[in-house]
Amino acid sequence: MTTSNQTRGESSLNLILIGMMGSGKTTCGYLLAQRMGRKFVDMDELICLREGRLISDIFATDGEEYFRKVESELIQELSQRSNLVISTGGGAILRPENVAALRSHGVVFWLNRPADHIFDNEDLGDRPLAQNGKAAFLKTFAMREEKYRRAAHIVIQDFTSIQVTVDTILDQWAQYLHNLRNVSAPEGRITKGGMMVELRNSTKKLCVIGDPVEHSKSPIIQNTMISAMGLDYIYMAQFVARGKAGQWLEAAKMAGYAGFNATMPHKVDLVPLMDYLDEDARMYKAVNTVSIRNGLAYGHNTDGRGFLQSILDEGIDPKGRTVVILGAGGAAKSVALKLAQQKAKLVYVCNRTLSKAAALSSMAPLGSIVPSPINNQALARILPRCDLLINCTSLGMTGVADQWEDLSFLDYLPADCPVCDLIYSPSETLFLEQARLRGHQTLNGLNMLIWQAVFALEHFTDTHIDGHAMKAILDPVLNPRPEN
Ligand code: NAP
Repeated sequence: MTTSNQTRGESSLNLILIGMMGSGKTTCGYLLAQRMGRKFVDMDELICLREGRLISDIFATDGEEYFRKVESELIQELSQRSNLVISTGGGAILRPENVAALRSHGVVFWLNRPADHIFDNEDLGDRPLAQNGKAAFLKTFAMREEKYRRAAHIVIQDFTSIQVTVDTILDQWAQYLHNLRNVSAPEGRITKGGMMVELRNSTKKLCVIGDPVEHSKSPIIQNTMISAMGLDYIYMAQFVARGKAGQWLEAAKMAGYAGFNATMPHKVDLVPLMDYLDEDARMYKAVNTVSIRNGLAYGHNTDGRGFLQSILDEGIDPKGRTVVILGAGGAAKSVALKLAQQKAKLVYVCNRTLSKAAALSSMAPLGSIVPSPINNQALARILPRCDLLINCTSLGMTGVADQWEDLSFLDYLPADCPVCDLIYSPSETLFLEQARLRGHQTLNGLNMLIWQAVFALEHFTDTHIDGHAMKAILDPVLNPRPEN
């Protein structure tokens, strides 16, 4: 059963200790649990119990990857529970999905005891990390330090004695809960899909604008990433009527927004309103991401990069391929121009309204994009040479009445040609189903959606984001498994 944060208040938050081995997590955790009248869970001990062997044996027999997998599973389980004091293993913060789970219903304390002090003064026994000497131990700490910092709500530096550390943690815990209640209750905590978003006075605002916009998955994607990274931002959906993008931009600047994404019908309208346009936004003559700094608007477009990364993840490099794109709307434009830029051999754009395909091809270097009708005769000529077929029409999308009437043109494709659909709802369109049944590798638009969001958040926050880690975090959010 999934327990939503909606049903769990801040007084039931787990108290979580992170830090290097030997930093005192287990002893502190035990004492804290006693003082708070809570159950204490030592993650390493729990792993040993579940596996029926020591951690050193797990590492020796099955390797670190296996250990981390078991650790992640247990963290996911524990984060569904309340009123625990949890001491995590030193490397638990290495996986962003662990950090996201721990933070989703817990206050995370980093016991930041100096690593050289730990190594010189603690008996680290046969723990794997202690086996390679002090220099290796310090190097591991240096590599993890930033991850600890980002995972933590509160950093503990006072290690005068174990009692002092425990008292400090309890003081900070009480202060944190007090602040949480005062800052956020009752409207300062937003839950969406079981995810909690915290609001502070310092929280920076982001949103997606559109008309319509209520269907957008951007808020759940962005807020999940924001929460996982411990960033002080909130992301909302904002209705902005067609033709009102200019008024919205002024309002957003006035209201102190850090930026916004744009969907239909604003992407083109925003172009002349920007103080700066990045290379892709200039190439597509469309903006899907605006970051606002010092009153200036920076326009970006992450759609093409998002699609490119989503196919690269599947081992599909467009370089040298003959690509066939169905559709010539906004999405087709960013995909076609990006793939032409990435040295696809040739890109065909096939569209019901041929003039739109021709207009698109005129935006690319001569001869790199070829316009075509989308009828059976044209497809019979083009598709046998196709190395990558992409649907960029809205046919088959949830909420769109129009559907493919005849997909027999898929029979013209070479057997090893991958087939993509930019649509992600439903997760498998009729187009993709028919391609899969003919034995083709298929890919829907969800990963494109995630990657364009990752790149947008990088622009908003000026931070590098590990997109693959974010995909792992977003997967259970966007594809929830049925409850037992
Ligand atoms: P758009 O600008 O409205 O373009 C729609 C395209 O579909 C046009 O080429 C249009 O042809 C064609 N079309 C619509 N109805 C048709 C029909 N009955 N028969 C033949 N062609 C038809 O929309 P868009 O922004 O490009 O979006 C297209 C799709 O991509 C949507 O389903 C959208 O959800 C998806 N998308 C996904 C992502 C992602 O991140 N995965 C991002 C952007 C878009 P005409 O030109 O002849 O009208």
